Amino acid sequence: MERTEIIVQLKAIVGDAYVSDAPEDLFIYSRDQGVQEPHLPDGVVMPGSASEVVSIIRFAGRENIPVVPMGGGLVLSGLTVPLKGGLVLDMKRMNRILEVNESSHYAVVEAGTSQGMLDAYLRKHHPQLKHSLPDAPPAATIAGNIAIHGSGHLSQSEGGFHSEMVTGLEVVLPTGELVKLGSCSTVPAWFSRAPLPDLAGLFLGWNGTTGVITKVGIKLFPRPKYHDVLVYMTEDIDLAPMVLGRVIGTSMAEDINYALAPKPDYLRGFQMTVVNFTANTEEELAFKRKTLRSVMKDLYETRDSGFMPVPPNMKAGFLEAPQKALSKFADVRKGGGFEYVGAIMPIERIPDACRAGMEITARHGITYSLGARIIGRGNAAMFFFAYPFNRVDMDEVERVKKALEETNETALALGGIPWKTEVQGQQAILRQMEPGTYALMKRIRAVLDPAGIMNPGNWEVA
Ligand SMILES: Cc1cc2nc3c(=O)[nH]c(=O)nc-3n(C[C@H](O)[C@H](O)[C@H](O)COP(=O)(O)OP(=O)(O)OC[C@H]3O[C@@H](n4cnc5c(N)ncnc54)[C@H](O)[C@@H]3O)c2cc1C
Repeated sequence: MERTEIIVQLKAIVGDAYVSDAPEDLFIYSRDQGVQEPHLPDGVVMPGSASEVVSIIRFAGRENIPVVPMGGGLVLSGLTVPLKGGLVLDMKRMNRILEVNESSHYAVVEAGTSQGMLDAYLRKHHPQLKHSLPDAPPAATIAGNIAIHGSGHLSQSEGGFHSEMVTGLEVVLPTGELVKLGSCSTVPAWFSRAPLPDLAGLFLGWNGTTGVITKVGIKLFPRPKYHDVLVYMTEDIDLAPMVLGRVIGTSMAEDINYALAPKPDYLRGFQMTVVNFTANTEEELAFKRKTLRSVMKDLYETRDSGFMPVPPNMKAGFLEAPQKALSKFADVRKGGGFEYVGAIMPIERIPDACRAGMEITARHGITYSLGARIIGRGNAAMFFFAYPFNRVDMDEVERVKKALEETNETALALGGIPWKTEVQGQQAILRQMEPGTYALMKRIRAVLDPAGIMNPGNWEVA
């Protein structure tokens, strides 16, 4: 079908205002902030409802047109870049918060609802509740984040990856059927995925290659009244697993982050473990502070390390969620280029990951921020190797590209798995994957998406 006819058909579904093939729009949707090659879509369409998504997907399926779902478009690794052309399905119009259940602690939102919208809504209408926020800019969406197994400021204390906090999904399959998954499939409430067979996993971590998520049930958690932070500093990279293990062992930290960067100059060579903790009373806060300090006592008495007094302006930054420091760092080279390898890895590999990150960046002459967020009470860490760059400096872009490729390989060699990784990283994972798992992924893709229209090129199992 000719592009003009495709646009006419899409306008009939969503209205004239919500479809575009204007060159300037296609340009914007052809790229992201990372180093991946741009690819032009044939059109951009913004559905306003699940039934419009159904109509778009049915039309795309009939005409064999690729469809790339997109939320905030902030994933950085090209996962919303339409590798094989077709349509970008921009979900941002579907941003209604449909329900907040104060008793059973969950919210139901449309897929395009942003992290910032849900956070602001809860603060205003349900101030006793909060959800786990990634440190991504607030325009990142709830669905885009769970579609890649994101994590955030409650991932350490409240159950792991954000995909594990999903209580139910509504999804449009690549063949155009609308399905509900979790308790909402059987009773009119979105409280849990169990005890039913867990079909939600077919859409979590699949980068939009198995269907379009249209609604999400997501866990909420109590918002304690008091909040404080401790920062533990050391120059000894090998101390990290022990420091982190001690903090995790107290079960008192809400969020635990580890960071290492060459700037500012006075912090060069130091690693920080930033421990956020919360409480309902001042006494509880004081008790947690005392306990967290006491488990480190023998370490700061015997090893070159200790708690850093945190000045008020620095403290304000550590206490905020999302942490804006990473967004600021993302543009430190100016020119708006930023990409990171986030590798999910065992905590004991953090020192080797730090060394590898410093070695790779030194060899390619690029700057970096390295660090980790603890996931699920210490089951894993999301270790980030973050590389900002100036997009107009093509030499720097090339060096960052090579560094990212090597970092993906290094992460795998260290026993980690690159997260939300670009196509090359996905292929490296698939090459190393156990053949039975690979074959199962292939069968699932073929059953769910026989026409191969959903975000083709990603998680491509040949
Ligand atoms: C400074 C900075 C800090 C960050 N910190 C974090 C962090 O702490 N934790 C974290 O998890 N991430 C972080 N990120 C990465 C990323 O921005 C987030 O994960 C973000 O939540 C992705 O959501 P999005 O709406 O932008 O997704 P998009 O980029 O729009 O999409 C991501 C993937 O999901 C798919 N997708 C999107 N919507 C749907 C849908 N409705 N149905 C099916 N598939 C869909 C897309 O096709 C794509 O494959 C950070 C990014 C930056 C720039």
